[in-house]
Amino acid sequence: MSRHPRPHIRRIPGPRSFGVAAALALLSMTAPAGADVLDAPGKHVHGEVTLNIALEGRKLLLEIEAPADQALGFERSPRDDLERAAVKAVDEWFRSGRSMLGVPRAAGCRLVEAKFTPPKLGSGHADYNGRYLFDCASPEALEWVEVWALRRLQGVEEAVVNLITPAGQRQETLRDRAARISLR
Ligand SMILES: [Zn+2]
Repeated sequence: MSRHPRPHIRRIPGPRSFGVAAALALLSMTAPAGADVLDAPGKHVHGEVTLNIALEGRKLLLEIEAPADQALGFERSPRDDLERAAVKAVDEWFRSGRSMLGVPRAAGCRLVEAKFTPPKLGSGHADYNGRYLFDCASPEALEWVEVWALRRLQGVEEAVVNLITPAGQRQETLRDRAARISLR
């Protein structure tokens, strides 16, 4: 795959009002040619993590796609108890959705839905994909998010964040795992 340099922030023209699910479908369709977000499973680039974040009304949605290499440190079947324990811990983390996303406390967000199916390890590439829906009592206080998942993932060289907020759509590439992403 060619790796053209990408601008740090890319604004994507598009409609401004639609449901969260439609927003994310649109994000996939409007991704730049050759973007990893469109890759079929098994064609990911190690070190690259994709995050889709959409805010509409009280609903905040996070989708994360990470190579198992970034979640576990390996993609093959676990070989010993230590590796089996690592798989169990990461599966539990993705299933719970805990510590994936940081938001202002004043926004009163709580996780209401977590979707995760553990990847099949052992035959080539494997991805950890999680989908998390938050209900926020005071969405007007949602000035930013922090991707806490990046603190736990390992060997992340680039995190591409596709954002849809009431302010519009844009794409940011995070290189600092502590970066705060404005939702304004
Ligand atoms: Zn891989």
